Amino acid sequence: MKKFELITLPYEANALEPVISAQTIGFHHGKHLQGYVNNLNAAIEGTPFAEMPLETIVTKATGGMLNNAGQTLNHNLYFLQFNAPKADNKPVGPLAEAITAQFGSFEEFQKAFVQGGATLFGSGWVWLSCDAAGKLTITQEGPAGNPVQKGLTPLLTFDVWEHAYYLDYQNRRPDHLNALWQIVDWNVIGERYQNR
Ligand code: MN
Repeated sequence: MKKFELITLPYEANALEPVISAQTIGFHHGKHLQGYVNNLNAAIEGTPFAEMPLETIVTKATGGMLNNAGQTLNHNLYFLQFNAPKADNKPVGPLAEAITAQFGSFEEFQKAFVQGGATLFGSGWVWLSCDAAGKLTITQEGPAGNPVQKGLTPLLTFDVWEHAYYLDYQNRRPDHLNALWQIVDWNVIGERYQNR
């Protein structure tokens, strides 16, 4: 039967430093995400879910299977959206135009997105997603929450679980979220927007 596999990172473990350390990547990708993938494979084994794409499982499953499927999908989107730190890192093209049209400016969007992550109580995810017409939305989601559950296309996400930042930032979640702007790969986010 089909098994989900741990995604391969498109960068070295230390490539995101100093924004995210190699140690955090090692635990977050190599231990936490691997654990979710293993639990997901165990949960779907011998069920009709074993033949479904991950996005479908996330919209149909419940309980522990949903938790592990949601974590797997969310982390896949999270880890694949980064690259090495860049100064003045900004979106371009149609996504940049949509952000400016809807939020007033890229800076206003960044403020609203970080605010969404900073005020999320406990563990979860802040998301930028869009509908088929390209309308953008920022949402706060709980542990297994993903915009696909609302029929939206997930574009960008910041993980606010403590395992995402505690080794590097301890309790300073807003500092971590603000630093993440340096490593967002806007080409990836722009492609997700164009392929919605
Ligand atoms: Mn995580």
